[in-house]
Amino acid sequence: MLFTGTRSNSAVESAFAIASGLAADGGLFVPQNFPAISADEFRTMTAMDYCRRAQIVLEKYLTDYSPEEIKYCVEGAYKGTFDNDIPAPLADIGGNRRMLELWHGPTCAFKDLALQLLPYLLTVALKKLNTGKQAVILVATSGDTGKAALAGFSGVKDTRIVVFYPRDGVSDMQKLQMTTQTGNNVAVCAIAGNFDDAQNGVKAIFTDQAIKEFLHGRNMEFSSANSINFGRLVPQIVYYVSAYCDLLKDGSLQAGEQFNVVVPTGNFGNILAAVYAKQMGVPIKKFICASNKNNVLTDFIRTGIYDRNREFYTTESPSMDILISSNLERMLLLLADGDCEQVAKLMADLKNSGRYQISGAMLEKLQQEFYGSCCDDASGRQAIREIFKERGYLCDTHTAVALAAGEDYRKNTGDDTLQVIASTASAYKFAPAVLQALTDGELPADDFAKLELLSKLTGTAIPAPLADLQGAEVLHKECVAKEDMAEFIRRNLE
Ligand SMILES: *Cc1c(COP(=O)(O)O)cnc(C)c1O
Repeated sequence: MLFTGTRSNSAVESAFAIASGLAADGGLFVPQNFPAISADEFRTMTAMDYCRRAQIVLEKYLTDYSPEEIKYCVEGAYKGTFDNDIPAPLADIGGNRRMLELWHGPTCAFKDLALQLLPYLLTVALKKLNTGKQAVILVATSGDTGKAALAGFSGVKDTRIVVFYPRDGVSDMQKLQMTTQTGNNVAVCAIAGNFDDAQNGVKAIFTDQAIKEFLHGRNMEFSSANSINFGRLVPQIVYYVSAYCDLLKDGSLQAGEQFNVVVPTGNFGNILAAVYAKQMGVPIKKFICASNKNNVLTDFIRTGIYDRNREFYTTESPSMDILISSNLERMLLLLADGDCEQVAKLMADLKNSGRYQISGAMLEKLQQEFYGSCCDDASGRQAIREIFKERGYLCDTHTAVALAAGEDYRKNTGDDTLQVIASTASAYKFAPAVLQALTDGELPADDFAKLELLSKLTGTAIPAPLADLQGAEVLHKECVAKEDMAEFIRRNLE
């Protein structure tokens, strides 16, 4: 298996793609073709646990890793790190819907599924490439990636990690998770700007010759833990494959029977992983792309025009407050049948004018498989309230956007196919908004008192990783202007 770029052709092995994160021309690495999982393999996998399912999927993409190396990576990532050793359980919430709960890991958000594994994949890749260099992991976060990456990379030999988050764009709990992170190889910094500023800043640093040379002088090299890195994407394919296996196993689906997926979307990584799972043979019918008030993707799916020139909103689902969805670039390559020149042109349009329009043929393909839907905070709260009232099921603000999108899809299309809804975070990470959805009462001022109240109201337990933050020392207090991100990195690596 070799990997090519979204903007120009290349042919690199997975270790190189994972270690470098981004292609030299700014494009993203994608597999040259998609390996298939046969009906027989699915049947066998049904009886397997998550680790073994992951091993099978990874072996098909990372053909330059030995089976022993993959086993080491997968077991390091998923054994003893998730509740009950089940990283991605399905919960039946009625109405022919299942929640794919992706928040049972160390930081209570779905990013853990990829970021518990990435440090293993990366360190093995570095060993294979034998560069002798330290990897400097640069992260721009809308909230959850930062902590998940810190948790994954803290203390990992031969790596440093630097995380930038938007000062006013993350929840209090997300901020506390990051600013209390321990480890002698970690740095965390707020920026005066939004997530797109952070992401653009990081992308610019990746191609900044001066800082690259600064790193080389210290025997270091940049890498990325954002979902632009293929090493983030491949672990996410696994949970869609695993969900299908679970649905076969409990008789919810017959072999080959289709289901729909609903994904609360920001950078388009999670939903793209579902698309890749379908390419491998998982029978997914529709991809329902759920957005909050930052609905650039909903408009794109409806019109074929991607236009980031619009107001940016700060919402109660901050991990989806994004106007440039990086992974859409990989989707464009699929829609363009692998024509990377066409993708390069669209990305140049985006860079130059903040806007692009895909061809009629591409739009037709997109609409065959995708449905876009968006909702505001009020509708999200209503979804939280209703699912709790009807089923006693507690969901977070991001998952609520997906629930609402799934309903909208059903009403509009009459398609009652089973929905697998990606549940991307624990409600406790966004307790203030969730509480406001569930009660009219006055909320306590203290963050941890809010967690207690949510626990009392819903009869659910506060996740230990969040409860443990109480009294933790804040270690990272700096905030810089977006122009000063490179300078912060220099200072920290000095
Ligand atoms: C990151 C995140 C999302 C968005 O996922 P993408 O892969 O960026 O589309 C949704 N919900 C939560 C809780 C997240 O942390």
